[in-house]
Amino acid sequence: MKVLGLGAHPDDLEVFCGGTLALFAARGDEVVMCHASIGNLGTPGGDPAELGDQRTREARRAAERAGAEHATLGWRDGTIRAEDSEQREALEEFIRQCAPDLVITHPEADYHPDHRGLSRLVLDATHRAANPVRKSSYPPLREHIPIIYTESETGLEFEPTEWVDIGPVLEVKRDMVAAHASQLEPLEIEQHRATELFRGMQCGVARAEAFRPCMRWLRVRTRRLLP
Ligand SMILES: [Zn+2]
Repeated sequence: MKVLGLGAHPDDLEVFCGGTLALFAARGDEVVMCHASIGNLGTPGGDPAELGDQRTREARRAAERAGAEHATLGWRDGTIRAEDSEQREALEEFIRQCAPDLVITHPEADYHPDHRGLSRLVLDATHRAANPVRKSSYPPLREHIPIIYTESETGLEFEPTEWVDIGPVLEVKRDMVAAHASQLEPLEIEQHRATELFRGMQCGVARAEAFRPCMRWLRVRTRRLLP
């Protein structure tokens, strides 16, 4: 299976589903970790362009640690909007080129406008990417691919239906997060670790990541896709 993780910013996939992506890779699935924006406004002060370059390098190291391929759409921080037709078309092309079997991304209700914007863009772009009538440099997806939503920030307005035990890859996840050296303070690591503990408590393991599949027509599958 080919799994595409799409996060709004360079560290989102790492904190919300880094363990799960590492587990996919460890079991032999092909994993692509793509951050839509380069995170150029991730920390105050300094040069945004330099920060964007640095954060892209950090994300590349994190993906390498997970055994995943790194990608970015190269967008600017704070500009991701569901209504942006250029972004939607660029994302559609990227998804056609990548041809994943599963996409993991932010839930529609999350705190950051970029997260909400990307979630909706993913839903719309994957729908269009399966349409054979649309003009594209790449062939259409062979089906409407399933989408699985990650945790929201601190789990607010997010009711999971699937949990993944990340115990076996906890060190990998820690390294993936630590690769984001420019963001260690804004990452609020204790906050994310508390969420892992809380989700682990819910399913009877030490630490877990939680998910909810997209329940729209053509996206539902009969078998579990998560590791
Ligand atoms: Zn983010």
